[in-house]
Amino acid sequence: MPQPATPSTTTAPARRWQRGAESAPIASPCRAPTPLALGPVQQAQPCGPDQSAASTRILIIGGGFAGARLARVLSRRLPRADVRLLSLENYLTYNPLLAEVVGASVLPGHVVAPLRQLAPRVRVQQVRVTAIDSSARRVYYRDHGADGPIDSLPYDQLVLACGSRANLDLVPGMAAHALPLKTVGDALHLRNRIIARLEQSELATDPHQQRWLTSFVVVGGGFSGVEVAGEISDFLVAARRWYPRTGTRARVVLIHSGPHLLPELPPRLGRFTDLRLRRRGVETRLQTRCQAVDGQGVGLGDGERIAAGTVICTIGTRPNPLTEALPVPRARGRLQVGGDMSVPGLGGVWALGDCAAVPNAHGGQTCPPTAQFALRQAPLLAANITRTLRGEPTRPFAYHPRGLMAAIGHNRAVARVFGLNLSGFLPWLLWRGFYLLHVPTLGRKVRLYLEWNWAMFFPPDIAHLRFTRTGEDEESGHTQG
Ligand SMILES: Cc1cc2nc3c(=O)[nH]c(=O)nc-3n(C[C@H](O)[C@H](O)[C@H](O)COP(=O)(O)OP(=O)(O)OC[C@H]3O[C@@H](n4cnc5c(N)ncnc54)[C@H](O)[C@@H]3O)c2cc1C
Repeated sequence: MPQPATPSTTTAPARRWQRGAESAPIASPCRAPTPLALGPVQQAQPCGPDQSAASTRILIIGGGFAGARLARVLSRRLPRADVRLLSLENYLTYNPLLAEVVGASVLPGHVVAPLRQLAPRVRVQQVRVTAIDSSARRVYYRDHGADGPIDSLPYDQLVLACGSRANLDLVPGMAAHALPLKTVGDALHLRNRIIARLEQSELATDPHQQRWLTSFVVVGGGFSGVEVAGEISDFLVAARRWYPRTGTRARVVLIHSGPHLLPELPPRLGRFTDLRLRRRGVETRLQTRCQAVDGQGVGLGDGERIAAGTVICTIGTRPNPLTEALPVPRARGRLQVGGDMSVPGLGGVWALGDCAAVPNAHGGQTCPPTAQFALRQAPLLAANITRTLRGEPTRPFAYHPRGLMAAIGHNRAVARVFGLNLSGFLPWLLWRGFYLLHVPTLGRKVRLYLEWNWAMFFPPDIAHLRFTRTGEDEESGHTQG
């Protein structure tokens, strides 16, 4: 059912011109566009719906799945609008493959795609947005790290696609001692940490110390936790022959508070995953809570302690601080938006992806924070922004998810696709095929395909990448961990 545009969105063009007079030099639809507009300067034309879109300044904050796709679609739909993408990184991170970076199955460069190549018609600015003034319709940002000067940009339409953050405050000690898995940097750091621990273990003489160095605890038995535990386990098995003193001592423990792994999937698939992981040597602890983390390992709810030199946290998210200051109702930290993804009470502001609680007209639930939903929301939001600029009613988001898949290590996966529960090698092929199809840009698809095949026939890369520059460690010579 079409959803009527909210008063704030239907009247946006009219109000935009009033605001332009007060705050920023916003072009009238009857004049040439402002200097901010992309492309050649337009001649004055009669007012019309397309002309109003031509001079519209659309800012998108966040170059993740939601923001990057939205930018690409919007720039095609509104080729004469000034669409800008403001993002911390100049690339999109393909998060579902981060666990493979940890397990050295793929190179970090193959799970990212440069935003300028993904959305060539969009102006990409690699900046940190620091504040939003919704009444003045202005966004503030820093361009050179945390100490750079603050600059600002006016907007007519603003889209929040800034995702969420890892929440390491759920368990005492986690922020100080556990490693999150949310960014390429996290994945690379983890990969390096694992290899560094193996190297240190080869030098250690005390068996307890050796055991501690090569014990890896993963907290959280959801998709990320299962995938990363499976990848680390595979990597440790494959690396054994180069670390003869460490060899079979290495240990991976997966802690999960629920009764079965992968709670988003049917229990049968969770049990299958548990069995497969155990067979590969992963110790799974179900219905177990991680109570505390410290420099020596983790403390469990039943009083047991697991000594481990590396603790990986895959649980908990918190809202992006950028959205916290906005006077908007929230649902579990996410911005509560309308069905058309407009932010209530803030004219011309929209939100999608992980930072927004978008109602799904199909089933009436709130969309889960997954890439699958972020990618589907983006084209509809592009259409809704276009409709709003033309004074047409917007439409609510409705999507029926087709399935869920998780790779569980050693060329196995579990999936629920079109109502069918699948487990084993076939869903693993499906998993790879699906991601290969969806990884952005043809060049990356080819590289990923070659690398996956390469990894099936050749040993994993155990190079410990050091990021130390010449002269920085001439005295210390420490191995980074
Ligand atoms: C390890 C891992 C595995 C996952 N696996 C799956 C999976 O298999 N299937 C699935 O569907 N989902 C998966 N997800 C979830 C999925 O990645 C998210 O749902 C998806 O990334 C949400 O997209 P988004 O665009 O809303 O946010 P994000 O992709 O998080 O993007 C947010 C963007 O905002 C930018 N940003 C943030 N703050 C600022 C600021 N102040 N200024 C400028 N830019 C800013 C960031 O740089 C980033 O570009 C996984 C997530 C992780 C971490």
